Amino acid sequence: MGIFSFLRRRRPGDYDELRIELWDAVRAGRPAFASLTPEDCSALRRMASWFIDVKDFVALGGVRVDEGDEATIALLACLPVLRLGAGWYDDWSTILAAPDGFVHRMTSVDGAGVVTEYDDLLSGRVTELGPVLFSLPDVRESGFGDGYNVVVHEMAHKLDERDGGLDGCPPLPRSMSRRAWRAAFGDAYADFQVRVARSSSGRRVGRASRLPLDEYAAESPDEFFAVACEAFFDAPQRLEAAYPEVYELLGRFFSGGA
Ligand SMILES: [Zn+2]
Repeated sequence: MGIFSFLRRRRPGDYDELRIELWDAVRAGRPAFASLTPEDCSALRRMASWFIDVKDFVALGGVRVDEGDEATIALLACLPVLRLGAGWYDDWSTILAAPDGFVHRMTSVDGAGVVTEYDDLLSGRVTELGPVLFSLPDVRESGFGDGYNVVVHEMAHKLDERDGGLDGCPPLPRSMSRRAWRAAFGDAYADFQVRVARSSSGRRVGRASRLPLDEYAAESPDEFFAVACEAFFDAPQRLEAAYPEVYELLGRFFSGGA
């Protein structure tokens, strides 16, 4: 071993696969893992071991984050970058786990310039180049096939912001057109806003809704992207049926531009 070998950054492929009992516990009932090939499963388990090693997990408010919780966050978080590569997560290091949803003070400005402040109950949040905050109960409910996946949602924001801003378009591989992305996502977002306006409820009805995506997707283009990513991994048929172009673009993006 060379004297500078300790300086070499360890990469996911250098790690052992995540322990089988943790892998089995996390993947049970979560359809996104069922569609992976054996090679993908192996790569994902190594990447999850890397993730747990290099990211700092910080428990807030007396919550207990056990090995299973770390494995759940790591495996769900690594799913989107399985093909893109772990480098997409190299600009942040901390995961904060909260005992429950948390209230965030929001500000909105309407067309007449009237500023309204309101409290929004969130299950996760990213800060630019900073920590990712999760509600642990929401993590434990994520990925069971109903399109709800707070981990993938927040990771989608992390991918989106890598080119400097949250706008619903992450940095794309050369083989993909930013203009085509904006057109497809813009059309789908506009359609979804119409669907939400037509639906009787103004609340976030989410999983039980007849809408193809969680109503939260109508908040902004970046939230539409994050919610579409949740659906891509967790309820892909529903996304494909409603917005086939978005589904196809996400498939190409997550496979590295193929
Ligand atoms: Zn979001």
